[in-house]
Amino acid sequence: MKIVFVASEINPFASTGGLADVTGSLPRALGREPGVEICRIMPLYHQVTERGFHPRDTGVRIEVPVGFRTYPAEIWVADEPTPRTYFIRRDEFFDRSHLYGTPEKDYDDNFERFVFFQKAAVALMDALEFKADIVHCNDWQTGMLPLLLRHGIRGTGRAGTERTVYTIHNLAFQGLFPGSAYGITNLPFTYFHLDGLEFYGNVNCMKAGITAADCVTTVSRTYAREIQTEGVGCGLHGLLAKLGTKLVGLQNGVDYADWNPATDPQLAARFDAQHPEGKKTCREHLARLMGLELKPGRPIIGMITRLTDQKGLGLLAAAITEFMQRDVALVILGLGQQKYHDACRQWGAQWPERVAVKLEFDSPLARRIVAGSDLMLMPSQFEPSGLNQLYAMRYGSIPLVHDVGGLTDTVEQAAADGTSGTGFKFAGFQHAAMLASLDQALALYQRPAEWRPLMVRAMEKDFSWARTAHEYIGVYNEVLARHPAKR
Ligand code: ADP
Repeated sequence: MKIVFVASEINPFASTGGLADVTGSLPRALGREPGVEICRIMPLYHQVTERGFHPRDTGVRIEVPVGFRTYPAEIWVADEPTPRTYFIRRDEFFDRSHLYGTPEKDYDDNFERFVFFQKAAVALMDALEFKADIVHCNDWQTGMLPLLLRHGIRGTGRAGTERTVYTIHNLAFQGLFPGSAYGITNLPFTYFHLDGLEFYGNVNCMKAGITAADCVTTVSRTYAREIQTEGVGCGLHGLLAKLGTKLVGLQNGVDYADWNPATDPQLAARFDAQHPEGKKTCREHLARLMGLELKPGRPIIGMITRLTDQKGLGLLAAAITEFMQRDVALVILGLGQQKYHDACRQWGAQWPERVAVKLEFDSPLARRIVAGSDLMLMPSQFEPSGLNQLYAMRYGSIPLVHDVGGLTDTVEQAAADGTSGTGFKFAGFQHAAMLASLDQALALYQRPAEWRPLMVRAMEKDFSWARTAHEYIGVYNEVLARHPAKR
């Protein structure tokens, strides 16, 4: 089976969040499945070279029509051969300081940038020897791909035989653009209606993917259910509820070759479930690094996240005084909305020995926080999959989470005596519920003989990609079986 994975960000080349973690690790796990050949396509951003990668020019040049204009694209390729990663290069669109926009606002030409990218990806598939069975599209930046594969980049038809799978990593970002911009896709206007990609007069890129792909997946079972409801469906719940078995929830996994406290070079000491002693050193190191005062019985609570409403910063802000009345230390690493930057800075000033804040994207520090913290706080309003709770568990940091989406599916509530479970979950997006859950955690934390087995259980949990990769193969096979004539 030949698979092409198309995404706007892929680790380690460029990332803004969880999408890149998934597109970085899932294709590798798919590539290990018998009979699978896989390659990936992404834009060549400034960030790629900034991160120390130096792709090679393949010499392949393609012409990409975007409305009435035509832009040339260069095809570059990463040195790492497995899975092969192709980059679409056009500096005018992608050689910028950020991927999608500055902290103040999205780039004005995002629709043009990603229509260009997707068309270049189709043209590249046509230029390559690699004839895909499945094209796997991810989030709004690749939502137009199923239609572009069907109609071709000029909208005049195409002889491709690929089948498409579209994955929703976060339904809250749909890629909405004025209807007047639709012309640059060169696609037939017959799709610009309620049952197609039109959304209140706008082009909705995610809706295009959902309606045109052969199968739609999302990143946990619970989120697949939740997005069919008005509260979480972001205006698309009706459409999603009608998909029936065409909508599948598959839990994201972890690449344990990368996220392993026994080998992680960023840590002050190594440890694992059998030898958790090194975690104490990591804890002391983190406290020193962040200027936190350590005291017996006072847990370090970590939070590594986009500082946004979705991630529950508003809930924490409403509860912070009561939260800090408990004997806890809090370390926050993140970037996001200005109001939360201000709030975090203020908490750091108010409780200098117990609250440490770093407003940056810092991957090595993120690893030191998961290794050095005792609890990982994730009070997300909604959470498609969540990855941090999975990393945290492996590094012995117990997740304290809002009971939604992927958090529901991956964290098991701990028993009061610590004899079962892997974390703490609160139901209801209210700060009283979060504080009650925190109190349960603190009570158990005071009893190390019960806390330690909880930690070991969390560390032993296996969320490796192998199982999910296998499930994806099942989905691909089903899609191909449903359309045998196309093979
Ligand atoms: P989302 O994709 O919605 O932002 P996820 O939990 O799925 O949330 O994934 C976020 C990923 O990004 C995690 O691996 C997390 O550790 C990482 N991350 C988020 N913010 C930062 C930051 N400021 N520095 C380093 N890593 C971060």
